[in-house]
Amino acid sequence: MKVPPLDLPKQYKTLKKEIRKKIDEVCDAQAFILGKTVSDFEKRFAAYCGAEYAIGCANGTDAILLALKVAGITHTDEVLVPSFTFIASAEPIARLGATPVFCDIDPETYNIDPFLLEQKITTKTKAIIVVHLYGQIAHMKPIMKLARKYKLTVIEDACQAIGAVYGVGRKKAGTCGDLAAFSFFPTKNLGGFGDGGMIVTNNKRYDEKLRMLRQHGSKKRYHNDLLGMNSRLDALQAAVLDLKLAYLDRWLEARRERARYYTELLSERFGPDVITPVTEKNNLHTYHQYTIKIHGVSGKKRDMLIDILHAHDIGAMTYYPIPCHLQKCFSYLGYTKGSLPATEEAATRVFSLPIYPELTQKQQAYVVETIAYGLKNI
Ligand SMILES: *Cc1c(COP(=O)(O)O)cnc(C)c1O
Repeated sequence: MKVPPLDLPKQYKTLKKEIRKKIDEVCDAQAFILGKTVSDFEKRFAAYCGAEYAIGCANGTDAILLALKVAGITHTDEVLVPSFTFIASAEPIARLGATPVFCDIDPETYNIDPFLLEQKITTKTKAIIVVHLYGQIAHMKPIMKLARKYKLTVIEDACQAIGAVYGVGRKKAGTCGDLAAFSFFPTKNLGGFGDGGMIVTNNKRYDEKLRMLRQHGSKKRYHNDLLGMNSRLDALQAAVLDLKLAYLDRWLEARRERARYYTELLSERFGPDVITPVTEKNNLHTYHQYTIKIHGVSGKKRDMLIDILHAHDIGAMTYYPIPCHLQKCFSYLGYTKGSLPATEEAATRVFSLPIYPELTQKQQAYVVETIAYGLKNI
């Protein structure tokens, strides 16, 4: 049996006819950059999130960069960000010449620990990037309280969390902070046929400025009021994504079902030895990843177990084996091993099992049985 990390060909098969029709429409119109296809999708995307404005851009990394730019972040500023995340959460901070200040996580949810944030705030701190890792929204309530107290802009890195819901207020990912970044990288829960990104906000001034920044800082052609960039969403991507958006909630529910089944199987097989994902009360997880830890399995042992899974055609992966603060590109910041203990512990222990709407119960049972086999052989 094969269990790939994701089964996009299977998804494409079910939508092929509809998608090809949409692509043909764009080809017939020969209008590829922004335009009505993109603005229609932006409107539907904003409505899906429950936000006022959505601004398409070239990818999720640019969405974070543009959000930082519109928030006015410059080279003298510090921005708080978790270290246990994909590099693209932190990279844009440094690209603006500002300083990323890496923060530790809550070891249960893997999201930034709001109770460790305050001690990192200095007179230079201007913003917080909150990552909703694996598809669960971070502890936004205490984070927003802190942000308001210190007048910090809060940017959600919601690249893994489209459709996630937070707390009793049922807020969706993208509406919990001041600005939010989404990615349509093909492997994301809403994936395009190439790169794509979106910024979401309720702030009209941000919306206006972002539409300029993504297009060389101009509102009127050849009148460049701001120093911007070229970061736009293609009409071809928007057409595909707009169609897929209608299926998203079904796909997210299918992911949640598969997560429940994994948890059931793993608990039956291993009891408390396997630590399955923790969803906070009132949150709705999107299971971009289904991430576990096993007691007594870390570092080399964890990697050996993953190798065994790979040898059995199971696409298990570690997200992320090296935390940002220990990456070479950030060595100039001077962090050392031991500076963010919960982050470093998670990096040596976690791994994610294949999860996607097309995954079958048979495949899931095979994954769990192969973990049992692997544990006997490491
Ligand atoms: C995918 C991802 C990004 C970057 O998105 P791209 O579209 O690949 O640039 C940023 N942050 C997180 C947490 C991601 O998962």
